[in-house]
Amino acid sequence: MKTELLMIGTELLLGQIQDTNSTWISQTLAEHGIDCYQKTTVGDNRARIMGALDAGLQRSDVILCSGGLGPTEDDITRESIGELLGRPLVFRPEVYDEVLERFAALRRVPTDNNKKQATLPEGAIAITNPNGTAPGVIVEDERGIIICMPGVPHELKSMLLDSVLPYLKAKFRIEGVVHSRVLKVCGLGESRVDDAIGDLMNAYSNPTIGLLASPEFVRIRITAKAESEAAAESLIEPVARRVYERLPDQIMGEGEDTLESKVASLLHARGYTIAVTEIGTGGLIAQRLAQAGNGILVEGRILGGGNVIAAGEGGVDIGRKHMLDCGSTCALVCLYPQEGESAKALFLTPEDSSTWDIDIVGSGHRAQVRLTVNILEQMRRYLSRAD
Ligand code: ATP
Ligand code: MG
Repeated sequence: MKTELLMIGTELLLGQIQDTNSTWISQTLAEHGIDCYQKTTVGDNRARIMGALDAGLQRSDVILCSGGLGPTEDDITRESIGELLGRPLVFRPEVYDEVLERFAALRRVPTDNNKKQATLPEGAIAITNPNGTAPGVIVEDERGIIICMPGVPHELKSMLLDSVLPYLKAKFRIEGVVHSRVLKVCGLGESRVDDAIGDLMNAYSNPTIGLLASPEFVRIRITAKAESEAAAESLIEPVARRVYERLPDQIMGEGEDTLESKVASLLHARGYTIAVTEIGTGGLIAQRLAQAGNGILVEGRILGGGNVIAAGEGGVDIGRKHMLDCGSTCALVCLYPQEGESAKALFLTPEDSSTWDIDIVGSGHRAQVRLTVNILEQMRRYLSRAD
């Protein structure tokens, strides 16, 4: 089965809103093993919507549309489909009853133009929308299938997951799932990761291994096709183990793990709390540890570089003082007083202390972010090793 996407909305073409729907739909289709070959965006213009649908039906079995299902004048998706396929629009009382129920549940009063939402191309199937008032629409035509979902992201998501995917799977007898596990590597560039596991990437076809780099980490995505999620997991597991063997210290975590959540939980596991003094990172380290939210951060201080250097204080003095002042068991001090110089980080724990020299390329906020990531990763490795 071939599918493609048609995103409808003038706002999208004007760049007033970001088209997150198509990214999300594409990801979700891929996760379910459904091939998607093309994406088109059109404004709220009947001729162009019809043109895009017409072209899509020549290429694909199914067109998945988003947007233009509302009650107002510029919501013309239903009309465009009706005209293209020669299916007059028909008012459907049973669909309108559902629209009215939705209004009652939302404690809103429908207006006359809400009847539009229950006026569908002849022979269409209405899809319930438990999160909004506009029902979705499926038209099964001899030329192909057109499926319309609302533009509002949370309405679209639940409609695709709860109704459209089950419909497509039953209709096209799609069996099985595509399931992935994501390992996150910190402190190594994409090409170094490729060096380390390139042979594994070539050796397997199910699961496949793919790399995706971002400023903070490289994601290693291991993806398997199988008849169930559990079966996919058992295909993935031995391959993941081999990847771990190749990058034992560098894999920071998996899935939704973040550097700060890892560092915070390693500190928490030892019963540590921490005071963070930052010179040159603008409070980013403390901010991220605070977001990790498990109470290990006692206090964060942001200092300007000039005074500290003038007073001749070293990192150890600053850290000790901060621990005493706020009663934490550990301290982290970041010293990055001047752009262009290397930065220093000092980590004091009840047992030990560690100093890291870090070379930073660039300046400004991006340099601060890079330094923050670097220090958090050093802390993570330090705390993991000492375990
Ligand atoms: P409504 O009943 O609200 O009119 P609709 O189905 O007609 O819904 P649109 O009018 O096209 O959908 O879009 C409604 C809102 O949904 C937009 O203002 C925007 O906030 C959001 N939206 C629409 N399309 C997208 C998209 N592709 N990605 C992300 N958000 C979108
Ligand atoms: Mg609308």
